[in-house]
Amino acid sequence: MKKVLYVASEAAPFVKTGGLGDVAGALPGALRQAGLDCRVILPLYSKIPQQWRQQMTFITSITVHNSWREQYCGIFRCDVDGVPYYLLDNEYYFKRYALYGENDDAERFAYFSRAVLEVLPHIDFIPDVLHCNDWHTAFIPVVLNEEMRGREGYRNIRTVFTIHNIEFQGKYDPYILGDVFGMETEKKPILEYGGALNLMKGAIVKSDAVTTVSETYAKEILDPYFSYGLHHVLVDNSHKLYGIVNGIDTLKFDPAVDPALPYHYTFKTRNQKFRNKKALQKELGLAEEALPVISMVTRLTLQKGLDLVRQEFDNLMKQEVQFVLLGTGDYEYEEFFRQMQEKYPQKVRAVINFDAALAQRIYAGSDLFLMPSKFEPCGLAQMIAMRYGTIPVVNAVGGLRDTVAPYDHTTGKGRGITFQSYNVGDLMDALYRAIALYHDKANYSKAKANAMSGDYSWAVSAGKYIELYNKL
Ligand code: ADP
Repeated sequence: MKKVLYVASEAAPFVKTGGLGDVAGALPGALRQAGLDCRVILPLYSKIPQQWRQQMTFITSITVHNSWREQYCGIFRCDVDGVPYYLLDNEYYFKRYALYGENDDAERFAYFSRAVLEVLPHIDFIPDVLHCNDWHTAFIPVVLNEEMRGREGYRNIRTVFTIHNIEFQGKYDPYILGDVFGMETEKKPILEYGGALNLMKGAIVKSDAVTTVSETYAKEILDPYFSYGLHHVLVDNSHKLYGIVNGIDTLKFDPAVDPALPYHYTFKTRNQKFRNKKALQKELGLAEEALPVISMVTRLTLQKGLDLVRQEFDNLMKQEVQFVLLGTGDYEYEEFFRQMQEKYPQKVRAVINFDAALAQRIYAGSDLFLMPSKFEPCGLAQMIAMRYGTIPVVNAVGGLRDTVAPYDHTTGKGRGITFQSYNVGDLMDALYRAIALYHDKANYSKAKANAMSGDYSWAVSAGKYIELYNKL
């Protein structure tokens, strides 16, 4: 049986800040179901709740060397739904307020990367494939190839590197190569790019395969508009670049059983969804009216198209709609939505918080889900919305293009409203079309049925990963 170690900086249900956490919490289970021995490894952050810590068993501890440092590494294991998770403990690095954004992130994840490679014999799991994700784990393929191939069992390990978001590359001053990354000066060209050390660049060059999370994004990142400067590296390595779209955990994200919802519904009983809408309006103190409820559940960053929303918000408020936002992120957007709630108290609710249960009630309780991202590697939120029968309104980029087929009034096919270029005119046009669709009961009902009956599971994509692992 093929052995895969999935390395991620976050994984649901332990700890999640965004889509990567969802993927690391769901894909490994799907790979196991398809017959692989897939396990996951991540840092044991202090943010991981006690409820999970209680279920972990201590395996052993080792010392991890990085440059002149000798650091403790405790190894814990916790199985969730049959998937073994290994959690690496070091309070100096992981007892922090936030997962990322600390001023020693380079050192923290250099440590984690070296630790992952060091623990393999201690967990008795030398994988056939090490599957790394995003910049936090990008140093692993570099260290493996440059320093560790000579170790017993390490010779044949293959590496896959998945880009979930190319915006974050792990860029640092070349000056810290030796001190923080423990690498010799002659290895600098492997990581160096554009005058900086760039961990993602190192992983792209050194991995056996590079994947990203939708077919469209795999093409887009070859272009400077989307690549955040890495297009030259990706074009040079396009022979090993693959796009495999994410799925969602359809057992967890299921309106028939979701414990966060006041009223459950299935495809058959989808006309009962309106009860959740009323409950949401009540919960948020909005009038229980039959107006379209437009929602967003999102990180509040430029990526998510919030500059367009901000520019046109007053225009949108001229419509008979209610607007619900759940999000945290950049202060300017948090402040903007707070102000909009003050300005339009009858119409707008802005919950500036991270609240997984409220997110589910919003997916279930709204009519239209807005996601006008400037770029979107895959996007999970639109899939969750569709599974809950809420029509997404999206900019057709990346994974949004691959997962949201536009609704066609003539054929009755499709499950969302899309626009094709990132500007306020197109966004508003899409919103007007979405509002009109909401009022067109027959077509709205068809779009909703199409959305709810879509297959968003991991099954197909897990198969594609397995095909890729086998090819390596
Ligand atoms: P990204 O990974 O770029 O943030 P995705 O759409 O891929 O975007 O995944 C976002 C995930 O995080 C979804 O599961 C979404 O519901 C969740 N999420 C985002 N913001 C919040 C929030 N404020 N509260 C709860 N869940 C959130």
